[in-house]
Amino acid sequence: MKKSSKTFFITFLLLLSLMSIIRPVFSKEINKNGRQAIPVLMYHSITEDSRKIFSVNKKDFYNQMKYLKDNGFNTLSLDEVYEHMINKKPFPEKSAVITFDDGYKDNYDNAYPILKELGLKATIFVVTGNVDEGSYYLSSEEIKKLQRDNIDIQSHTVNHLKLSKLTQNQRIKELSDSKEYLEKLLNKKVKYMAYPYGKYNENVIQDVMEAGYKMAFTTNQGWMNLDQGMYSLKRVIVGGHMRMGTFKKLVKFD
Ligand SMILES: [Zn+2]
Repeated sequence: MKKSSKTFFITFLLLLSLMSIIRPVFSKEINKNGRQAIPVLMYHSITEDSRKIFSVNKKDFYNQMKYLKDNGFNTLSLDEVYEHMINKKPFPEKSAVITFDDGYKDNYDNAYPILKELGLKATIFVVTGNVDEGSYYLSSEEIKKLQRDNIDIQSHTVNHLKLSKLTQNQRIKELSDSKEYLEKLLNKKVKYMAYPYGKYNENVIQDVMEAGYKMAFTTNQGWMNLDQGMYSLKRVIVGGHMRMGTFKKLVKFD
């Protein structure tokens, strides 16, 4: 071996061993490339003009959705997510999930036309005790219309209480009654839920399983991945004051 090629060979070996040390640090990115992890966006209110911590303005929402559309993102329904999770099958390239909590009427007025125009799928976790209760929340007719049009409706319990603070009986009632209500209204199985205030513990998870839910979403910040527990799935919180640059970073696949 010539001296130069020997030096090259040693350098190569050194680099290789260095890579194996560094590699775990970049495991998140490796995951993303391997389609093991995806962002599940969490919205609440989509307002006409104001911006608050949990209220994203309609114009900003449009820009965010347009960005996903123009950049080839593939929006998944929760049934599709579940299929990948249960089979540990990598997600389709550049997948994302769009979710809304609470069931505000402005989801129908402001978010729905945008999602429809751009052909994006989404899920709304509805607080069923608020349905048909005043102008602030979705009506049962709106919920039916959304479900028919690619906006999947799932449960956010009946009364939006902290599940970890309830007795087991109260908790089961919150979980089962909301599920039953939506199943009857929409004539479909309701299999997924989001924890009110993101509050959960081992007892809550047991009861969520008992009530027949297959996956549950938290408010813990981060991407969900194939190895996360089915009942502690992370989401990406989209705040009302978020700049477009931050949004792009949050959904960026490396
Ligand atoms: Zn909520």
